[in-house]
Amino acid sequence: MGYRRDEMEQAEAHQAYNRKAMKAIRYMLREQRLVFVLVGIAIATLAFTLFSPSSSIRIQYNSDPLSEMRSSSSSSLAQQSRSRIEEYISMGSVGGRIPLGLKRKGLRVVVTGGAGFVGSHLVDRLMARGDKVIVVDNFFTGSKENVMHHFGNPNFELIRHDVVEPILLEVDHIYHLACPASPVHYKFNPVKTIKTNVVGTLNMLGLAKRVGARFLLTSTSEVYGDPLQHPQVETYWGNVNPIGVRSCYDEGKRTAETLAMDYHRGANVEVRIARIFNTYGPRMCIDDGRVVSNFVAQALRKEPLTVYGDGKQTRSFQFVSDLVEGLMRLMEGEHVGPFNLGNPGEFTMLELAKVVQETIDPNAKIEFRPNTEDDPHKRKPDITKAKELLGWEPKVALRQGLPLMVKDFRQRVFGDQNQEATSSSTE
Ligand code: NAD
Ligand code: UDP
Ligand code: UDP
Repeated sequence: MGYRRDEMEQAEAHQAYNRKAMKAIRYMLREQRLVFVLVGIAIATLAFTLFSPSSSIRIQYNSDPLSEMRSSSSSSLAQQSRSRIEEYISMGSVGGRIPLGLKRKGLRVVVTGGAGFVGSHLVDRLMARGDKVIVVDNFFTGSKENVMHHFGNPNFELIRHDVVEPILLEVDHIYHLACPASPVHYKFNPVKTIKTNVVGTLNMLGLAKRVGARFLLTSTSEVYGDPLQHPQVETYWGNVNPIGVRSCYDEGKRTAETLAMDYHRGANVEVRIARIFNTYGPRMCIDDGRVVSNFVAQALRKEPLTVYGDGKQTRSFQFVSDLVEGLMRLMEGEHVGPFNLGNPGEFTMLELAKVVQETIDPNAKIEFRPNTEDDPHKRKPDITKAKELLGWEPKVALRQGLPLMVKDFRQRVFGDQNQEATSSSTE
């Protein structure tokens, strides 16, 4: 009897359970609640896959909002950068899997000399596409003002450091620009200039080797010296005085190129070499002695334009945005170089003075001064190689670029005078 009563109780419990289950199913079917439950399960599964510690770092990188920001800019450079870092990661060259919480965000780029004229424009482009940028600069010719609009952005760091001393950083790309570029500045302390070019470049190459970063050297058209071949092709070895007043810069950059190639061949460092021709634009140092900045500042201040020698020597002037585009294409591309980056438009210094007169003041006077020692007679880049392999060529003609520089100089020349009246401090 007791056994039958147990059986009856069990059957009743079973029926009650079935009734409850049916009620739950009917509840879920009513008003499409089942669909909501299934969608909930799918979201939970996806979230578990993405954020589980065992999922690969590659998935974490793609889910990074910074990387999406970059790819949404849909520039092919940004896509190449992303595929490159993914390639690093899949090769395990950045240490394989990274613990949860240390996920990689964007490309980490160091720009030495990033507070200078060219460097600060490069930094602007890298920041705009979402890279994490570290500027390393000793402020010899650069200034905080050139990069202070990035202060407070967590993707930006500024380190006061002299590249002649070693430095430890963890980065993916190194743009090595640190070196004074104006003849007046690099002749000021020639031994320091050659140390910056040789020891500074050695240190940055050592850093690139240690962390497996790609390294770009900003060399110069000065490696061709006073050229006997015109226009200059990358295969031309140059005509350089090894013991002259410009040698600290010319020979320094030639040695820097040698170091880059030796680290490339001997230590497999991925290097890129740009040979930059005369570049101008906003943020050039006002009194750096270079011809474009001199002429523009002189015309604005109603002083005579100082033409050195007979003014028949030639240069080719490139606007800074064209150069920055070329540098980035070179860094992201697959070719070591060297590549000439310059505008092939060639001007005598008298012709340049005329363009400055047309742009600023037709009545500006010209004053002839003795030329400096070892001044190259002519310079014009052959950019066939950059056109073919980087798909790059300058877009801004001198008459278009000069007014942009004049606007910036006008503000600074007259702003500076106002400031001088109120403050004696420059920092
Ligand atoms: P710039 O003088 O405006 O910038 C150079 C930057 O490097 C400055 O911010 C300076 O403070 C910094 N610097 C110098 N020595 C340093 C050191 N030892 N440690 C750390 N920082 C240091 O010159 P730029 O015109 O911007 O030139 C940038 C690079 O491009 C240079 O390497 C230059 O040789 C090369 N380049 C420029 C031109 C041009 O026409 N602008 C032409 C050929 C090559
Ligand atoms: N270096 C640096 N940061 C690094 C690695 C190297 O500044 O992260 C410097 C290092 O101090 C040395 C130079 O780069 O002076 C060359 O380094 P490398 O390892 O190639 O040569 P080594 O130290 O063996 O002479
Ligand atoms: N130059 C000039 N007047 C100036 C400054 C420079 O005529 O006030 C000349 C200089 O002699 C050289 C050319 O302009 O022939 C370019 O000089 P810069 O210093 O700009 O650059 P470089 O190409 O010599 O490195």
